[in-house]
Amino acid sequence: MDLSYILNELAEDREQYFNAIAPPIIQSSNFAFSKVDDLRKAFADEYSTFLYSRGLNPTLDILRKKLAALDGAEDCLVFNSGASAIFCAVLANVKAGDHIISVQKPYTWAQRMFNVILPRFGVTTTYVDGTNTAHFEAALRPQTKLIYLESPNSWDYALQDLTAVAALAKQHGIITICDNSYCSPLYQRPLEMGIDLSLQSATKYIGGHSDVVAGVLSGSCALMEKIFHSEYLNTGSGISPFNAWLLIRGLRTLPMRLEHISRTTQTVLAFLKQEPKVEKVLFPLDEDFPQYALAAKQMKGACGLLSFYLKAEKIEQVESFCESLQHIRMAVSWGGHESLILPRCAGIRPEKFNPENPEHRMLRLYVGLEEANYLMRDLEQALEKIN
Ligand SMILES: *Cc1c(COP(=O)(O)O)cnc(C)c1O
Repeated sequence: MDLSYILNELAEDREQYFNAIAPPIIQSSNFAFSKVDDLRKAFADEYSTFLYSRGLNPTLDILRKKLAALDGAEDCLVFNSGASAIFCAVLANVKAGDHIISVQKPYTWAQRMFNVILPRFGVTTTYVDGTNTAHFEAALRPQTKLIYLESPNSWDYALQDLTAVAALAKQHGIITICDNSYCSPLYQRPLEMGIDLSLQSATKYIGGHSDVVAGVLSGSCALMEKIFHSEYLNTGSGISPFNAWLLIRGLRTLPMRLEHISRTTQTVLAFLKQEPKVEKVLFPLDEDFPQYALAAKQMKGACGLLSFYLKAEKIEQVESFCESLQHIRMAVSWGGHESLILPRCAGIRPEKFNPENPEHRMLRLYVGLEEANYLMRDLEQALEKIN
């Protein structure tokens, strides 16, 4: 299917709504029936009828079909956050006594689920360094039901060989989930590499304008239908019609935004690499990146996230750099129009700062839609303020 067709036409039945170019926001909680038997059928199979908007909704349906096509998936569900997509995907595939193998340092709220919530129900997790597939094999137990991946990671961009891990999991009848937020389906399609469930935070590139929180989970009809009937409906974590509409709008410009951001990121990367006050830069499609070969093999591109280590002896230097930026804002998240900086040291108490620990001097930069020169001028003047 052509990308342009998916983004502009797929699932849009415009004759149903006055030939409007933009789809309607069907802001309705419920849908009426004229025959008891039709209502009965809807109760029996809510996955094929509009009954109640905690389940399906016509605006959401347009979005689901487009997102599934982008992932090369049979089906997808859209959640009111990436975190709830993670929660439902994992919960649906484990029970008491089961064991999960997760790549080390997955997204914060995936970690919370593995460390705090699941142990209360007798589900345990082993973390492995995912840069070597043998580590997953070594951690296998008879109770292992799920392998949880995130490739690349969104701080240090550590990758897993998705094809190899998926093949290993298949041999043992284990479900695989991959957090694909970093790449988005335009730059990486985990399902095509054999992964069972692909998820992403749509808050990032799909939304693209820093105005909606959402998550996408894609996979086979069988897996998605199972999740819909249990965790999705029961946690009520579907997206609202208005937010679904915002994501459809975001999709229209997704390829151009990613192309622009990818180009700008390469320019900013080259600039940071030659800056004397920058010790090291991490970016998966930089030839100096330790897993560059794997990144080039399994990713079609990389966008706006990169990390770098400042040369600094004191926490005040890192703080002064961040606070001196005039245009690049300090905030969590990424994928929007605006460039952002996030210092790792915001997660530690100032008295714990240790310049010997590179992580304490680490910053994550998100390159948004601004011009490269505008961003580099801002970075340069802030770097000059470190003394
Ligand atoms: C942001 C993010 C999430 C969570 O998404 P929300 O929409 O914020 O709930 C999950 N994984 C990664 C890698 C993320 O960056």
